Amino acid sequence: MLGSVARKLRFFGFDTWYTKNKPDIEIILLGIKHNRVILTCDKDMYKRALKLRAKGTLLNGLGDLGDIAHVFFIYGTMLSTFMHGRPRCPACNGRTVEVPKSGLKEEILDFAADHKFFRCCGCDKIYWEGSHYKSLKALSKRIDGRILELLKELSLYTVDYSAIPRLDFVSWRMHLA
Ligand SMILES: [Zn+2]
Repeated sequence: MLGSVARKLRFFGFDTWYTKNKPDIEIILLGIKHNRVILTCDKDMYKRALKLRAKGTLLNGLGDLGDIAHVFFIYGTMLSTFMHGRPRCPACNGRTVEVPKSGLKEEILDFAADHKFFRCCGCDKIYWEGSHYKSLKALSKRIDGRILELLKELSLYTVDYSAIPRLDFVSWRMHLA
């Protein structure tokens, strides 16, 4: 259900695990062990995670833009603040490295000759900064726009921003279930 959110978070540079069929308790314990924020649409699992003092955020699963904005809003920050790293592989979460054009298959070069190319260190998939890349970059700006709207709505009420939990985002990793 949240696979698409996971792929986008990876593209945005976040170390993101995605699990479909593991028992809740296993996911929660993994989250605690590896200091991951567990993102889920399952209310019961979310409550269970909090009870066990895991870090978790409940998503409504109605759309990637809204869900991702909600995650960063909850922690009182903008997505762009943490998008310094290179995109991770949306397919496998592997790190990507830039690769020279020499050595790439001709059909890829024919298709995207003018772009920078990246290879996933995990699955060897080749990516380039084409139209999909640009549309995801544009999406990240729209997500930040949504976060700003949410923060503005909040400021209509009396909010103690210091009370909004913050994480050590340098090591922020996620696990979607
Ligand atoms: Zn990969």
